[in-house]
Amino acid sequence: MSLEMRTVCERCGTALAYDGPAFICSYECTFCASCASDMDHVCPNCGGELVARPRRRTDETPLKPSNHYEEVYPTLPARHTET
Ligand SMILES: [Zn+2]
Ligand SMILES: [Zn+2]
Repeated sequence: MSLEMRTVCERCGTALAYDGPAFICSYECTFCASCASDMDHVCPNCGGELVARPRRRTDETPLKPSNHYEEVYPTLPARHTET
């Protein structure tokens, strides 16, 4: 099985959004922020440290390249083909 993102807090059952705050231990026990805080960020199941779960973007659209790129790397002037 690939990595599964759980959508509810194991302790209180609060729904956890993919892009919302959540805390996981190294065994992927998943808790909401308030439960993690209540438990001093220690997993009650395995005793591991609870860390903030990386947020998953809900859309797959890559970020637009910023204009800054063109400022740093200006495109070369087009060559004039003279006949
Ligand atoms: Zn909770
Ligand atoms: Zn755990």
